Amino acid sequence: MRIQVLGCYGAEMPGYKTSGFLINDDTLLDAGTVVSVLNVEEQLKINNIIISHTHLDHIKDIQFLADNVIGKRNGHINLIGTHGVLDILRANVLNNIIWPDFTTIPSVNGPILKLLPVKGKEELCLGDVTVKPIRVNHIVDATGYIIKDNDGAIVYTGDTSHTDWIWDAALKEDNLKAIFIEASFPNSMADLAAISGHLTVQGMAEELKKAGDKKVPVYVFHMKPQYLDIIEKEIALLDNKRIKVLKQGDVIEI
Ligand SMILES: [Zn+2]
Ligand SMILES: [Zn+2]
Repeated sequence: MRIQVLGCYGAEMPGYKTSGFLINDDTLLDAGTVVSVLNVEEQLKINNIIISHTHLDHIKDIQFLADNVIGKRNGHINLIGTHGVLDILRANVLNNIIWPDFTTIPSVNGPILKLLPVKGKEELCLGDVTVKPIRVNHIVDATGYIIKDNDGAIVYTGDTSHTDWIWDAALKEDNLKAIFIEASFPNSMADLAAISGHLTVQGMAEELKKAGDKKVPVYVFHMKPQYLDIIEKEIALLDNKRIKVLKQGDVIEI
């Protein structure tokens, strides 16, 4: 599995882009950053967009991607999320007010975006990749995912505070190869992390203990860029060589 980091931060400012990961060239995991990084040829290869939750930093490029490739590609792009997530996107974003409803354009029978709901813990097969949604603990309906191909599985927490379900699922994965976990805030901002449904560095370290003996590489994302220096220092102090802070442009091969 090849994972290209298009954006991996918890806010947007020069040099820092929000969450978007491209898996095996054709599947997006969150769509906070797509069109400002991939050229149109690369955008045309995208067949699936998997959404963890409806916060803007994870969805904002869905619409621009659809707009860029409409009329240029054969067939639709699957827009994948829970029923709750897809309902919110349709009502609030793909509604012909904020942006065109690309689930009915260019035609109702042949739209560029097709909604493909996932149900809790049911695996969905997308070509060479399968995705399993696992509910996490954020301030809106949010799912992490376990994503697998022939090379192995990865866990992606999306945005979450403390949670158990995704670690219970991770422990059952025989071929787990990597963990992608958020750490949005430095330890001094635990109160803000708690009320916004996120993890501090210490919270992230506590979550990783729940992965038991799965001693796989850990990739940290969703850092608030304004606190990146201190977050990186606190992660270094954990003295755990398996933990790497992601940078946009990184390519992870498992
Ligand atoms: Zn969020
Ligand atoms: Zn976020």
